[in-house]
Formats: sequence, C-alpha cells, structure tokens
Amino acid sequence: PADAIDRVARAFGAGKPAEVVHAVDRVSLDIRRGEVVGLVGESGCGKSTLGRMAVGLHTLSSGTRQWQGDDIDAMPAARQRALRLAMQMIFQDPYASLNPRLRVDAIVGEAPVAHGLVPRAQRSDYVAELLQRVGLDPALARRFPHQFSGGQRARIGIARALAVKPELLVCDEAVAALDVSIQAQVLNLFMRLRDELDLTYLFISHDLGVVRHIADRVVIMYLGRIVESAPADELFAHPNHPYTIGLLASAPTLEVKKIAFQPVAGEMPSPLHPPSGCHFHPRCPHAMPRCRVEQPLLKEVAPQHFSACHLNDS
Ligand code: SF4
Ligand code: MG
Repeated sequence: PADAIDRVARAFGAGKPAEVVHAVDRVSLDIRRGEVVGLVGESGCGKSTLGRMAVGLHTLSSGTRQWQGDDIDAMPAARQRALRLAMQMIFQDPYASLNPRLRVDAIVGEAPVAHGLVPRAQRSDYVAELLQRVGLDPALARRFPHQFSGGQRARIGIARALAVKPELLVCDEAVAALDVSIQAQVLNLFMRLRDELDLTYLFISHDLGVVRHIADRVVIMYLGRIVESAPADELFAHPNHPYTIGLLASAPTLEVKKIAFQPVAGEMPSPLHPPSGCHFHPRCPHAMPRCRVEQPLLKEVAPQHFSACHLNDS
C-alpha cells in the first residue's frame, strides 16, 4: 500500500549529454518506513551519490525524490526545510565533520536550537539526554572532539544527527573507519536506536559483513545501476546476480580481519566509459554475446527478489 512506502529517491538518468558522468543511472529506490536497506557495492559504484541524492545533497539531473508519495521538489519551501531535517546523513569519519573548536554540547545542541526544536535554555538537558541515548557519559559534553576515541566520535556524530529528530538516517560507511570490535558495538547501537526512535536507515557499505548484520533488505549496485535487490535472508541464501555471487564468495565477515576489497576478478571499469550492454560483462564468468549489446533489466526472480541478468531469461 502506498501509505506504507516512503519513496525517497527516484533518479532516472536517461537522455544525457555525452560528457556528463552519470554516477547513478536509471535507478529507482524505495525505502519503507522502519526498514533498514543495505546499499552495497565497490568504491565508485555510485552508492554514495545515490545516498546523497536521497537526502538532497546531490542534485538530480532528472527524476524525482518522493516522500510518502509526494514529490519533494514540488513541496512548499517550509515543508522542504522540515524534510531536510527529517533526512540526516552520517558519514564515515565523524572527526572530519566535527568542528574541532566546538565542545560536544555545541556540536550536538546547536542545530536543534537554531531550528527551534529546543529552547536555548533547555539545550544542556537535551544534549545530556542525547549523549545518554548513544551510550556516552553526559559529563563529557564540555570536551572537544580530539578528546574522544574513534568509537566515541562515531557516537557523537550519531547524537548530532539524532538531535534534529530525523526519520531517515542515511549512513555512508558509518562504521568503516572503526576497529572490528567497535564496529559491532556501533551497529548494535544503530539497531537499538531504530527500535527506540522508530528510525529508517539507508545503510551504505562496501562491506557485506556489516550489511548482513544490520539490513532487512539488500540492494547491490554496480557502475551506477542496481543489479540485485532482495530481502537480506533471501539474498544471502539465494544470490542470483553473478556480481553478487562474486561478492559473497569473498566477503570478510565482522569476525574476520579486514582484507582489501577485491571481491571479483578484474578491475572495475571507469564510470566515465562504462562497458556496453551489461556493465558487468568484462568481469562476468557467464557473459554471452547478448550481454555486450543489451542491458539486462531488473526482473523478479522470487518474491521481492529482483536481479538484472540475462541468465534469468533462458
Ligand atoms: Fe553476466 Fe550477462 Fe548476466 Fe551480465 S547479463 S551478469 S554479463 S550473464
Ligand atoms: Mg563512497
């Protein structure tokens, strides 16, 4: 039903001038309320761009962004401003985005006061509550970012995002910079926050181990296109696309020491000159003549499981 679906990002890159790089091309992504969608692919596949499009940090050359069925760009300015708060992004390295000269109470408390969500007089109490929620001692609110560990800084970044009462969090490699044991703790925090605050996540990661831990549904991107999408259990049990199968065959788990991400034989081609037909054909062990000329479209291969591969036609 339409009311159960938040359509946040819908981008079509058709009819483009030849010189423009389309990091995301003819992609449609629906995120349902309360869902954790894991968006996976190698560096340069367009997943960060898609995440930035979803929250409005990256302009669409064509296509629309919708929220509960309404076109965001056609909404009145006030509603658009409110939606900018409702969709928050969390980045890989919170340290880079935490102002080193500000104390944590300003970093976390500034935006909600500026946007009128919290009266200035209540800022300290509000910040203390948020720090507690993300597992930090409220007594640390007077400290500066450099006085915290990587895991603590990740929690500060999360508290800052939560401060404006978002509904959708787009997490771009949010735990990638952390040690494996800390990663698990922060992922557990994300899961707890989802339950407590009724959040929805688009969780972008190159790491299938991370996504397996957190996602309800997994979307696999390759060179700007979605090649497979399925409920997480289904995807891990019955991967369909040759690229996904390659990723799974070599995915490090959370317990295993991180290895360089080299999941599939061969290098990823430049997005500037993507291969014809199926973008994956130069690296695919099953490539057929048809794959060089014809782009495979997403097709439902099992309930709610979509894959874009010509092998599904035979
Ligand atoms: Fe491989 Fe062809 Fe399927 Fe692409 S369409 S993944 S090249 S078999
Ligand atoms: Mg990226």
